[in-house]
Amino acid sequence: MSDSLLRVESLNCYFAGLRAVAELSFDVQPGEIKAVIGPNGAGKSTLFNMIAGVTRPTSGEIWFDGSRIDNLPTFRRARLGIARTFQNLQIFREMTVLENVMVGRHMQGQSSVMGALLYTPALRAENRAMTETALDLLARFELDTKAQVLAGDLSFGQMKVLELARALASKPRLLLLDEPAAGLPQAEAEHIGQIITALNRDGMTVLLVEHNMRMVMSLSHDILVLNNGLRIAEGDADHVRRHPDVLAAYLGD
Ligand code: ADP
Ligand code: MG
Repeated sequence: MSDSLLRVESLNCYFAGLRAVAELSFDVQPGEIKAVIGPNGAGKSTLFNMIAGVTRPTSGEIWFDGSRIDNLPTFRRARLGIARTFQNLQIFREMTVLENVMVGRHMQGQSSVMGALLYTPALRAENRAMTETALDLLARFELDTKAQVLAGDLSFGQMKVLELARALASKPRLLLLDEPAAGLPQAEAEHIGQIITALNRDGMTVLLVEHNMRMVMSLSHDILVLNNGLRIAEGDADHVRRHPDVLAAYLGD
């Protein structure tokens, strides 16, 4: 569909003969929260890695906002507006909370290496603007009082929020969230859920991988279920919950 923000077409990914993702096609519409669920090893992270440009598909196409992106390097995809968080936290523990967010913002900056060396007025202005944007983001997530704290000193829950803030710093149009609630107690998982809902209300399109079914069922407009790299069901929460193949996959049938 031409008005999709993301379109994945007959995507395959093999690792030395192992089929991680198989003939997968789906769309993400602008403004949608789409969840990708499935048992461990279903291919969810591999799918994210292919969309973000970390893993090259064996075959198939990925389209973002009308352009084919599967041959673009990661940073070009980031510049087009794709941001992600990782299943395993990727926080720079020795850097401050603010610096962690600035790293995300720099993905989107125009400053070249030469510009950084010359430290032009334009760059100074850009840096100031970046800092302000980063502080606004931290304030939004109630981390502004921690701006100068080393990221490694945050609680695990705060690190998960920080990673989300960093992804948003590049002002993406599509947010790929790989298990944003993993390892969190339910109350903190709900906090993450509220953040995602608020972002989506402001127009953010989200592709969400998550095992917390309460979160998935309450947030998602559409749920894609993978098992062994194959799509076994897709639809709203009621459809997916009742689907016999989904039940079988989760019960290890
Ligand atoms: P999920 O995120 O749904 O748990 P993954 O995408 O991580 O699943 O993994 C899908 C399958 O691909 C698994 O069998 C996994 O072992 C395999 N796999 C993932 N990444 C690699 C890799 N870099 N090399 C080899 N096999 C991999
Ligand atoms: Mg995974």
